[in-house]
Amino acid sequence: MHRDENCLFCKIIAGEIPSNKVYEDDLCYAFYDIEPQAPVHFLVVPKEHICCAAAINGENSGLVAHCFEAIAKICRQLDVDSYRVVNNCGDQAGQTVKHLHFHVLAGRDMTWPPG
Ligand code: AMP
Ligand code: ZN
Repeated sequence: MHRDENCLFCKIIAGEIPSNKVYEDDLCYAFYDIEPQAPVHFLVVPKEHICCAAAINGENSGLVAHCFEAIAKICRQLDVDSYRVVNNCGDQAGQTVKHLHFHVLAGRDMTWPPG
């Protein structure tokens, strides 16, 4: 499993920085966002360090599919049936942590287009 020693989410996955875990399996880790933007707001990350959505390719896209399977499973467990999945890729889109992650937001009305 590739890891980046300077990456916040790699440290969270390794348990070196505490997090409020929602779900974990061999390939992904999910935890509540420290600055929630909705009543339900958690992040799902592949355990493998992938910097961003722009680095998804034929070698690692199975991990992305796995993350989305985990999202569906977690939402069923939390009894959440309507939710928004967000990925910010790159600085202009607002990506602050350079480890691929999917925000899952629920529990309030969502606006469109997003800000
Ligand atoms: P992004 O801005 O899309 O890169 O998302 C990064 C997210 O990580 C933000 O929503 C932050 O609130 C969240 N975050 C940063 N540090 C932590 C942490 N230690 N535990 C949980 N969430 C965090
Ligand atoms: Zn990482």
